[in-house]
Amino acid sequence: MFNSLSDRLTATFKNLRGKGRLSEADVDATVREIRRALLDADVAVPVVRDFAARIRERALGAEVSGALNPSQQVVKIVNEELQAILGGETRRLRLAKNPPTVIMLAGLQGAGKTTLAGKLGKWLKGQGHSPILVAADLQRPNAVTQLEVVAQRAGVAVYAPHPGIQSEFEAPTGDPVAVARDGVAEARAKLHDVVIVDTAGRLGLDAELMRQAADIRAAVNPDEVLFVIDAMIGQDAVNTAKAFEEGVDFTGVVLSKLDGDARGGAALSVASVTGRPVMFASTGEGLDDFELFHPDRMASRILD
Ligand code: GDP
Repeated sequence: MFNSLSDRLTATFKNLRGKGRLSEADVDATVREIRRALLDADVAVPVVRDFAARIRERALGAEVSGALNPSQQVVKIVNEELQAILGGETRRLRLAKNPPTVIMLAGLQGAGKTTLAGKLGKWLKGQGHSPILVAADLQRPNAVTQLEVVAQRAGVAVYAPHPGIQSEFEAPTGDPVAVARDGVAEARAKLHDVVIVDTAGRLGLDAELMRQAADIRAAVNPDEVLFVIDAMIGQDAVNTAKAFEEGVDFTGVVLSKLDGDARGGAALSVASVTGRPVMFASTGEGLDDFELFHPDRMASRILD
């Protein structure tokens, strides 16, 4: 991911090397190249526009300092702005003072929520927590079973409603809001200190399911609502993210499928448009393909 963006930006900055001072024309030419590179990486148009304007303003206003030449100065500015868009400092999970901590997952179907539940569960267990996964996705046939399988692989507990499932092709019946609430009660009773609530997602945006997610949010009062988004989604990322921001008011973003050949634009767009930090990256189908997201490292990687 970001490889081609990275190459393009590096080439752009190379043109500035050796210049003693940057003219307005130099800055404009550079910003134009940055803008093109971001658009080609699938970053949303309004995000690119704002970003380019900030770079231009800062590059023109930059003091010529002794320590950095103009080319290094522009790189530094772009680095800082990229990092700011991605959330600034590394944002760690907020754990509740009075356990259990409740983490709710939201996102479109196929985004990688159920897989993430397992990854998060395994990761938290590795840190000495005792997580329980809650299967509140009653929309998709097999979702409950899938979560049970993931929990077993992760070696963590699961709370799943069973009555009502007739076959694997039929969605389980029941009230997902009640399941989520009961899951938290179960966690409290069995002394699990983190509850991860998996919720239903549709292929497209769906008002009813968004309402259901909002109802679950209201019922379990989560400490974190993580919006999981497939990094391959490209320009659609902005509308999807905005709809979920309005619908469930998420607190952090998880980028999934960063192992694919996504051009990376979704990452920048979602974080920028919603102002929510990217907290985790999912990088494969395995339960260990998961890491804390570090905005500074990602920005440096892009500018490497
Ligand atoms: P959900 O509908 O949001 O719960 O999505 P799932 O967790 O079921 O994931 C949908 C598909 O994407 C599954 O086949 C997963 O194995 C796959 N998947 C999830 N996360 C990743 C990831 O980070 N990288 C890759 N390559 N595949 C993933």
